[in-house]
Amino acid sequence: MPELPEVEVTRRSVGGIEGARVLALRMGKALRWPLGIEPESLVGLQVGPVGRRGKYLWLPMLQASGQAVGGLLWHLGMSGSLAFGASLGPSGKHDHAELVTDRGLLRLTDPRRFGAVVWSDGLDVLPASKLLAKLGPEPFDPAWTAEALHAALHGRRTAVKLALLSGELVVGAGNIYASDALWQAGIDPRTPCTRIGPARAAKLHAAVQQVLTEAIEAGGSTLRDFRNAHGEVGQYQGLARVYGRAGEACARCGGTIRRIVQGQRATYFCPGCQRR
Ligand code: ZN
Repeated sequence: MPELPEVEVTRRSVGGIEGARVLALRMGKALRWPLGIEPESLVGLQVGPVGRRGKYLWLPMLQASGQAVGGLLWHLGMSGSLAFGASLGPSGKHDHAELVTDRGLLRLTDPRRFGAVVWSDGLDVLPASKLLAKLGPEPFDPAWTAEALHAALHGRRTAVKLALLSGELVVGAGNIYASDALWQAGIDPRTPCTRIGPARAAKLHAAVQQVLTEAIEAGGSTLRDFRNAHGEVGQYQGLARVYGRAGEACARCGGTIRRIVQGQRATYFCPGCQRR
């Protein structure tokens, strides 16, 4: 499943669409949610700067006067990817949304169709407001501080790995990145949130930002079939410190990395240097 770094990599790789004029929007088989607007009504609109909130991409649309009229919210679901280019070739059977512009075609390929393209008149009105309402803080938002993380950890009895995966503490720490951030911070993934004091919360805060920064710089992770909008694979999985490395030696203490299951997801950690 594309996680926040992969979606951010995608956002950066489709940046060339800003300023393009919409010629058509073609929708294929039904996606997770309906489009919510007649595709023809987008013709002639201009695409604004591509934004991201959590794992959603936001393509704002402007009238010729420059006035914002709403936009398209894109979600890659379980298996989706976006391609953008002037010569992408004919549509395949898994291509379910194509925004045709005068600068090229933006194409959503989504074999499992859990992805979506949804029109909203703005981010703060329905349906966007509802889709985005439950998202935790953005990891690179200056408002998300170590103190804010510590406050969010306080009072939660759940294991810190599960709290990270829920996206309530911060968005973006999916399975690979949560495992690696906890290793970086020296925290056992089974530690109850309540036991993490201000100093360890600060380490975890820094670790989440560091791991996500490395992942974005590496082009994301390609565990299944992630590609950016130009068809390039990500390299983070080769940099992972513990994720997918059960039985290997820990780079920090030489201990043996273990795999356990938490909330039906694999967790990797080093019992030698990650403390409860
Ligand atoms: Zn270790």
